Order: sequence, then structure tokens, then C-alpha cells
Amino acid sequence: MAKGTLFVMTGASGVGKGTLRARLMERVKLYYSISMTTRPPRPGERHGVDYWFVDRERFLALREQGAFLESAEYVGRFYGTPRAPVERHLAKGEDVLLEIEVEGAKQVKARAPELGIHAVFLFVVPPSLSELRRRLLFRSGHLDEAKLREIEARLARAEREIAEAGELGFDYVVVNDVLEEAVAALDRIVRSERLKAYRQQEALARALVRHPELEAELDEMERWMVDRGGTRD
Ligand code: 5GP
Repeated sequence: MAKGTLFVMTGASGVGKGTLRARLMERVKLYYSISMTTRPPRPGERHGVDYWFVDRERFLALREQGAFLESAEYVGRFYGTPRAPVERHLAKGEDVLLEIEVEGAKQVKARAPELGIHAVFLFVVPPSLSELRRRLLFRSGHLDEAKLREIEARLARAEREIAEAGELGFDYVVVNDVLEEAVAALDRIVRSERLKAYRQQEALARALVRHPELEAELDEMERWMVDRGGTRD
């Protein structure tokens, strides 16, 4: 069976990756890889659903053991993709979705060939930096000095990542301005990737099959048409 495709969705924090992911997964079947992080949960976030929330010691120990496909530090916290579930689902022919930042995406890009993983890199951008700032402010609720500094750090990082996007060599760039349009674009990307030749080996093999019963019927029809000295009518 053909292995699944690894879709790596990258984009600044606050650009709406979480919403896009949820909406995309209503339209196409994908296994979402739940990341591990050392940052504390935000209100409403659940362990094992949004993230695996762990402490720094545990994270570093797992990283030491090679348990992550990639990992990165982001604004003072660690984030990583547990490797085993990703490989298991890809091996079953299922497509897997990662939602990670740029450093992690670079690591996946570097390792994918040696791991025999076909990865497709999607970069989600805001319509503008100001719009991103508006979204980050909007979702933060009550603002204090620490939160303000974190927003500034996230904005600065977003600016750098977007400026450097060309270097990573993303396969697709999706602007998250009108949500429905961005979801539709991601949907089309996933469906198109599934039509790529490397995923269509079974369809190619089936296309070469001759069915004995149908062949026999066609033989008979062919003889009949020849006997009538022409076409069917
Ligand atoms: P947040 O704290 O806003 O949930 O995530 C911060 C950033 O870390 C986001 O850009 C998010 O995509 C990224 N991130 C989440 N999980 C992972 C992961 O497993 N690996 C990497 N490299 N980045 C991640």
C-alpha cells in the first residue's frame, strides 16, 4: 500500500492555523498529530486533545531518546512532534497533518528523505502584519506587561518567518483572510496531492487489468459486428 502524505502546516501564531485545521478535517480525512509542549494550557485547552502538556524535564528526556520527529523552542517553551504515531499512520496509508512553526518544518524537510516520508509544506500567512497583531491582541483577553511582551515576541517572530519563507521552499502559500476561502484552498491542496502519481500506483495497476467476463462479451460483440459487415447499426 502507498504510504500516506505528511502535510506540514506552518504559519505564525495567531494566523488561525487551529481553526483552519479543524475546518479542513471536517472536509478531508487526516490524522492530526498532537504535539507535546512545555507551555501551560490556555483556558479551554485539554491534555491529549490540543497538546500533550508536559514539564521541561520530561520533554528533554524524550528528546534525548529521539522520540520526536522534530522539536523547537518557541518564545521560551519547547514544542515537539511525537515521532511514533506519525510514522504508524503514514505506514497505514493515512495522511498526517502537523501544525508546527518554521524551525520544526525545516527539520522535517531535512529528515523526510532519509525517513522515506513524502512531506508537503504549507505556509499560512495573514493578510498583513497589522491584521496578525489585531488577532493576537483580540485572543489574549486581559492584557498585562508579560502578555504584551509575549505578543510582541510572537509578532517579531512572525515577521522574520514570513520574510524568510522563500528559503524553506514551501510548496504552497495560503492567505488566511476569508476563512472559507483559505479552507477551500487547503482542501484542494490535499485532494490534489492524493492524485499525484506516487499515490496512484494501485490505480495504475488496476488500469492495466483485463476482466475475463467482460473480455468474453466484447469478443462476442466484436464477432457479431464483423459478421454484420460493419458497425452495430
Ligand atoms: P501556541 O503556543 O500558540 O499553541 O504555539 C506556538 C507555536 O508553536 C505555533 O506556531 C505552533 O504552530 C507551534 N507548534 C505547535 N506544536 C509544535 C510542534 O510540535 N513543533 C513545533 N516545531 N512547533 C509547534
